[in-house]
Amino acid sequence: MQVLPTHIGANTKECPPLGKLIVLTGPSGVGKGTLMNAILQRYPELHYSVSATTRSPRPGEVNGKNYHFITRSEFEKLVTQGEFLEWAEFAGNFYGTPREAVLNHIQSGKLVVLEIELEGARQIRHTFPSALSIFILPPSFAELEKRIRGRGQDTEEAISRRLNRAEEEIAAADEFNLQIINGDFEEALQEIEKAIFH
Ligand code: 5GP
Repeated sequence: MQVLPTHIGANTKECPPLGKLIVLTGPSGVGKGTLMNAILQRYPELHYSVSATTRSPRPGEVNGKNYHFITRSEFEKLVTQGEFLEWAEFAGNFYGTPREAVLNHIQSGKLVVLEIELEGARQIRHTFPSALSIFILPPSFAELEKRIRGRGQDTEEAISRRLNRAEEEIAAADEFNLQIINGDFEEALQEIEKAIFH
């Protein structure tokens, strides 16, 4: 059972002002991380939820900033302890959103942003129907492949797993409140800003 009521964003006598939960989802490589970083730079009052993952850090990634990098057994323990708001397996690794930090920030009236894959985004939609869910689409599949390969940080096997998964994810785009194409970065950014703040 969820601790939070389903009316995040409501501001009634019985409840303290609640924040809003924003979910950015879309296929790996679509640029949702870059869009989110740009949003966070412009609006430092937003709280970004740092996920836990069993994936190894990529060059330049910092533990506690990009992710909490943990082992599989640590992850499994946290799952059994109910410490994740949602979690999913993606391309052979586990990813999860720490429950307590997110709920505390929402309760204190903050806007909280999650940047997560499809299964997790579905779980959040189910648990928090009032969350704003935004699906980021690539301008084309070929462009997505180019971006994933261009990162040059994943093995060929990881790339093909991500591409297969991307097809499934894109097919689910209209399950979410809003679909935004990340073709022109600045335009996509403005659309996200509009959705969050207007
Ligand atoms: P990457 O390994 O490229 O950092 O992330 C792979 C995918 O996992 C991305 O689509 C990313 O949005 C997603 N992801 C990151 N953190 C979480 C999380 O906490 N939960 C879920 N379900 N997906 C996540």
